[in-house]
Amino acid sequence: MNQAATLLRDVFGFDGFRPGQGEIVEAGCAGRNVLAIMPTGGGKSLCFQLPALMRDGVTVVISPLIALMRDQVRGLREAGVEAGALTSGNTPEETDAVWDALEAGRLKLLYLAPERLASSGTLQMLRRIRVQAIAVDEAHCVSQWGHDFRPDYLRIGELRRALDVPLSAFTATADRETQDEIVTRLFDGEEPERFLRGFDRPNIHLAFQPKDNPRRQVLGFADARRGQSGIVYCGTRAKTESLSRALGEDGHTACFYHGGMEAEDRRIVETRFAREDGLIVVATVAFGMGVDKPDIRWVAHADLPKSIEAYYQEIGRAGRDGAPAETLTLYGADDIRLRRSQIDEGMAPPERRAADHGRLNALLGLAEALECRRKTLLGYFGEEAEACGHCDLCQNPVETFDGTEAVRKALSAALRTGEWFGSGHLIDILMGNETDKVRQKGHDQLPTFGVGRDFDKRGWQAVFRQMMGHDLMRPDPERHGALQMTEAARPILRGEATITLRRDSIVKAQARRRPAVKAMVNEEDAPLLSALKAKRRALAEAASVPAYIIFTDRTLIEMAETRPASLDDMARISGVGAKKLERYGADFLSVITGDVAEMHPTRRKLAGRDAGTLYDRLLQVQADLSRGETGTEKPLSCSASLLAKVAERRPSVPEELEQILGERRSERFGAAFLDVLREAS
Ligand code: ADP
Ligand code: ZN
Repeated sequence: MNQAATLLRDVFGFDGFRPGQGEIVEAGCAGRNVLAIMPTGGGKSLCFQLPALMRDGVTVVISPLIALMRDQVRGLREAGVEAGALTSGNTPEETDAVWDALEAGRLKLLYLAPERLASSGTLQMLRRIRVQAIAVDEAHCVSQWGHDFRPDYLRIGELRRALDVPLSAFTATADRETQDEIVTRLFDGEEPERFLRGFDRPNIHLAFQPKDNPRRQVLGFADARRGQSGIVYCGTRAKTESLSRALGEDGHTACFYHGGMEAEDRRIVETRFAREDGLIVVATVAFGMGVDKPDIRWVAHADLPKSIEAYYQEIGRAGRDGAPAETLTLYGADDIRLRRSQIDEGMAPPERRAADHGRLNALLGLAEALECRRKTLLGYFGEEAEACGHCDLCQNPVETFDGTEAVRKALSAALRTGEWFGSGHLIDILMGNETDKVRQKGHDQLPTFGVGRDFDKRGWQAVFRQMMGHDLMRPDPERHGALQMTEAARPILRGEATITLRRDSIVKAQARRRPAVKAMVNEEDAPLLSALKAKRRALAEAASVPAYIIFTDRTLIEMAETRPASLDDMARISGVGAKKLERYGADFLSVITGDVAEMHPTRRKLAGRDAGTLYDRLLQVQADLSRGETGTEKPLSCSASLLAKVAERRPSVPEELEQILGERRSERFGAAFLDVLREAS
């Protein structure tokens, strides 16, 4: 694993693996079949890119989206890795370049669109170039049940068989059914090594709020994050348009995105989002898989997502770079009704629908959670965790109350009216409101009439929402959404179980006040961060690439906070690999320090490592001895690359050193160099 750690640092500029990555890389390097489930933004790509660098020959990467592939290829090239893509989006020159690199045996990673697998030439080509391994990104696209199904993915199993090489599959979709389908289709049912972990994304702040005035809630959230890139997910296309307008009127740069738009218009939004700093996209879930921007600072749900998996995938798009990111999910009784009816009205077989209700229940359980949200969320994915201290519930514990009595009253109101009514009418009965409907139906004669005067309307709405959230009542699609009791409610009705409910905190009063703007760094470092971002923007524009391809926010934040004073310091910043240091290090350093001392390119390659310090010592010793110990001999020196070799190989005996330096130089410098090396070890 030593080599992996070295590559991790030199090529990608990272100090260590994220949870789960190390083991997956190891399994991949050992040539085992792998199925890895990691959350969006967990760092999947590294898990196949690193093994690809460590093995001889080419690794083929199958990925569903051209934009995503091009992005990864660009990122890899920036880091000095030979990678290429064969897609329908290529220019002829690009395709030629990929072929040249393949023929010359230079290419390490070949990205391939699944459509390519349909053509007979592809397999022949892959055989000829001696592919050593296959990696499949977004592997859940083989699942016919999922909404991302790609028929061409079904050919991957065939490809694996034909090439007879190890395959690693990656996805963020965690449910068991999808996993099993992947195993059947990609591995012919032969069990791969499964990795299901690293689900925690500690930099993402989790928060839910019951809908109160949803538009104002979203605007308030965006207002506190002005200038930062964000996504607002909406349940309907119409809402994306109206909300994006509202954000625009509030002074944000915002645009909308949904599946009903022309492909060209959607592409424009995607490109803008990738390139621009601080754009807000208001979208339906159609804005999804292709979003690979690592510096999205926040995600808001204006409506409840459809399942806990969907929720995690959507908020997971925030903060991929590891810098702090925030989320807010709004939900209300209407959302629950809508999601339930979508499941009930779908075409799926009954078992499937039951499973979908279960996944929705899990999300609702998270929405109505009484303690740490992260703990609840990770628990669903099978991970145990302590309270995180960094979610809305840890920061502002909710007030709870024993809701057993209230729930029984509500159930009774529903049962006594034949389960024919929705919450509005039931609340009128409970509160003793003599509305026309109540009188007409004679519901003022019920024993339940007026037994719930201890809550106001909002209070009862919160009770009903939570009852739906706990799946004690479900809207019945055949009765226009009238609430029906479920089996889960029976023990409470019978007095055999109790239930704790949360009192919704009233956030209304402060809603209009302007919240403090959340900054990414403290006040002192903010000007430097803006200057670094400006430099990044200039470089990105010059190269026509998204800004994050140069450096991510997180890397710039670290620069602003730690203020590296030399290229050595710069090399220690996370996200600064050798190639990027060489290409951009001086540019950014000059922003920080104002000017830069020149550094020999050979020395620069050692920047940030022990070998760098060693090199400096050797250089000094050499200068002292350039005319021998007496200072009278013929001048002699070692080239930078010789010094670098000594610093890297660290010979411990004179013979080894002589092999590097040759006889003459070793005579002059050998003993002194060995002293330096000994001191340093
Ligand atoms: P996903 O799992 O969604 O495909 P990516 O592979 O795009 O996620 O990785 C998300 C981000 O995390 C990228 O910006 C990547 O550079 C960064 N990243 C991945 N691994 C590490 C690591 N070990 N240390 C620091 N950053 C990392
Ligand atoms: Zn918490």
